[in-house]
Amino acid sequence: MSGADIFTAANKRISVEKCMNNSIKTILVSPHSDDIAYSIGGSLLQDFFMKPILMVTVFTRSNYSPNIKTNDIEISSKIRQSEDIEFINKVKIDYQSFKFSEPPLRGYSHNNMFECNNPALDPIYSEVYNSLRKLIKSYPCELIVAPIGLGNHIDHIMICDICHKISRENNIKIIFYEDLPYALWVTLNQIKLRANSITSGLQPVKIDITTKFNDKYNNIKLYKSQRWIFQILIKLHSLRIGMEDKRFLELIYPTNLLRYFMCLFTNKCTRATFFERFWVDKGVEDEYSFSCT
Ligand SMILES: [Zn+2]
Repeated sequence: MSGADIFTAANKRISVEKCMNNSIKTILVSPHSDDIAYSIGGSLLQDFFMKPILMVTVFTRSNYSPNIKTNDIEISSKIRQSEDIEFINKVKIDYQSFKFSEPPLRGYSHNNMFECNNPALDPIYSEVYNSLRKLIKSYPCELIVAPIGLGNHIDHIMICDICHKISRENNIKIIFYEDLPYALWVTLNQIKLRANSITSGLQPVKIDITTKFNDKYNNIKLYKSQRWIFQILIKLHSLRIGMEDKRFLELIYPTNLLRYFMCLFTNKCTRATFFERFWVDKGVEDEYSFSCT
């Protein structure tokens, strides 16, 4: 169940031994196929992270591919993994995946997979923890990049919790990314509360991805099995982070409203600024010369 596939950026399957010997510095942990492209695809294109970089997708056994008319788990899982591989080839990072099942295949209903408050109660928790710990410790990894767990999706809060635990136990730095599209379900204040519930002192770091946003957007479209509305939601969140500091009157000025509307539903994004946001501990902030906002 937890066997891992390893691919290089050139899409060649390589041996575990060879991969164990390479010098991965940053590990991006993706609960599902698409989470990294959606949530931090712009920062990745801006060379924000120390290379070499490995993306690890954890729950890849899936029947969720709404744009592909199939109920076949094998077909759906294969399509979703091929989308991930197309993405890592575009951004030139290494890739590894585990074969853990998504919640509906573990007996969760659509509603109760968003209702769990303690991910450690999920019977799969220990196996995911052991697999991820083994993988992360097999590299000279200096930074774990994990989801912050917005939207309370059981897999996202489980990966957040496990990565935080592995980071503390092994003294590896960690930063948390805002999960998209789930970030749109919560207010910016609720995101802050979630960050504080993980550890007090996490600070937001905004990354201006405006110059790379079109490339990020094109990479998001590689995930053809997923809903197109996700693309709009991701754009909306990138815009709203940038609007945080603006005055209300400035936001609702008619020409501005028209501009935001055009930007959301067309490619005409004049004078729009796009951001991704991370939550970072003070020590990590100093070392990576982030400037908290
Ligand atoms: Zn996900």
